[in-house]
Amino acid sequence: MANVKKFNLSPSKVKDFMQCPLMYKFKVVDQLSSPPGIDALRGTHTHAVLEELFKLKSADRTVENAYGLIEYVWPIIMKKNATYYSEVPEVSQIENDAEFREKYHSEIRGCIDNYFKLENPAKLNMVTAQEKWVQTDLDDKAKLGGFIDRVEESDVAGVRISDYKTGKTPTGQFSTKDLFQMMFYSLIWAKEHKGDIPKQVKLLYLKDGGVIADQPNQKKLDEVEANIKEIWAKIQDAQENNEWTSCQSKLCDYCNFKPICPEFGGSGDPKDYALAQVSAEPQAGAAQKRKLTTGEKKEG
Ligand code: SF4
Repeated sequence: MANVKKFNLSPSKVKDFMQCPLMYKFKVVDQLSSPPGIDALRGTHTHAVLEELFKLKSADRTVENAYGLIEYVWPIIMKKNATYYSEVPEVSQIENDAEFREKYHSEIRGCIDNYFKLENPAKLNMVTAQEKWVQTDLDDKAKLGGFIDRVEESDVAGVRISDYKTGKTPTGQFSTKDLFQMMFYSLIWAKEHKGDIPKQVKLLYLKDGGVIADQPNQKKLDEVEANIKEIWAKIQDAQENNEWTSCQSKLCDYCNFKPICPEFGGSGDPKDYALAQVSAEPQAGAAQKRKLTTGEKKEG
């Protein structure tokens, strides 16, 4: 068989399809870009600080040094993601308005303070990888893949996979959705490490200092694999028939495709997306500023 590139199924793609197949279609099939916001930027920035923190010697992993890394990682983020983050309207304010920058930095310091309440990084000496890309085959058409924030490996304690979230600790079905992401990674890890199942998965919520942890086992991984296969079959079915259900929920308020969504009077035509974005720009800017003030939206 010719070397056909396999479709890459990630936790966020699965999550998107589960939330709303039409939203998934706009994102993945039509490849409409979602403009980044300041919440995504703050999330990336906080992750970069923690990643650099773990590159320091154990004794140097202090709160003060973490604060210092906020300024240090900024040019690295901007260089690495220049095109992507150039679309965030607040980037120039962060760079040129000292008061705005201080407010933005204070929110990251808040996440760092909460992080240090949850863990003492000076004592975590088994970190073997950060921002690690992992992947495995689901079937002959698809592979599972994703980035793991942090992996710890020890002969005694086994493998632990951790993920930082810069939003609030979720409850109910939302905590289940976040844990699904961690079981997804655990499944990939086990498949790629001769069945060695991670002993623990841990989600650290840096907005309010919450933790959700679980212990994967074969039964849980079998369930998650069956779940992913079922969703993958539905995705293929929707693609073959070009039938994408729309599912209205409170989350529609955060959906970038609302202006073209038929549920809200839109045409459903991806070609209208650029036009809708241009006409919505002033409101989008105002909404982003509100989010910075209240810090209400969660980012991973
Ligand atoms: S606005 Fe709601 S229903 Fe429409 S595509 Fe987005 S998530 Fe789906």
